[in-house]
Order: sequence, then structure tokens, then C-alpha cells
Amino acid sequence: MSQRVSMKPNAPSELKPAHCKRCGCPCQGSPSQKPNARPFKKALRGLCSACVVCVLFQDVDGGLGFALPDDFDPEGLRLPHIQEQFARVLSVGESELTMEQINWDAVIGKWRLNEPTIH
Ligand SMILES: [Zn+2]
Repeated sequence: MSQRVSMKPNAPSELKPAHCKRCGCPCQGSPSQKPNARPFKKALRGLCSACVVCVLFQDVDGGLGFALPDDFDPEGLRLPHIQEQFARVLSVGESELTMEQINWDAVIGKWRLNEPTIH
């Protein structure tokens, strides 16, 4: 008498829908595969990829904020030498977010989200 073992594929239950804490857009959390990744590591909750890039550039402590002038125009993020440097930061830190995954239009669009709007 043979017994049939049914194999159930593992459901991707680790992927839970979440919302970005900064812009509120729906984004999917995923567990980090590289505990030492920096500056960007996947997480089950947190910021979307566009916001995390904004925050890195704007953060004065630990980010790149100290290097940007107060009146920095986020369109400058598209400049090839800025992108080159940023790509280096990602590769040195073995970031889980790669240049290919960054939507610079979204980064620029979300750049001023946490600044007070002046009317
Ligand atoms: Zn966001």
C-alpha cells in the first residue's frame, strides 16, 4: 500500500501589503535577505523605494543632507555624476535597493512631501 504525500507549495505569506509611512502609497514589504545591507535594506514595513531615497539624501545625520545646499533642486538628482555617486553608495553598502529599482520621477515627485507647504 503506497501512501501519497501531497506537497503543498509554500504560499508567499511573507509578502504583506503595506503602506509607505511617508507618502502613504501602497508598497509591498518583504523580508531582508542581507542583514548587513546599507544604506537600504528591505523591510516588512517602512518606506517605499522613492521615499527611502529622498530620506537618505535629505537626512543630515547619517545621510547625504549635509552635502546638499538648502535650495537644492531635486531635478539635480538626474545629473549623471550624482547618479554615479549614488550608485557607488549602493554598491559599497551592498544595498538591497538597486539603481534599476529606483524610479527617479517618483523620487523627485515625493521630494518635498515632508516640507511645509508655503502659500
Ligand atoms: Zn513613499
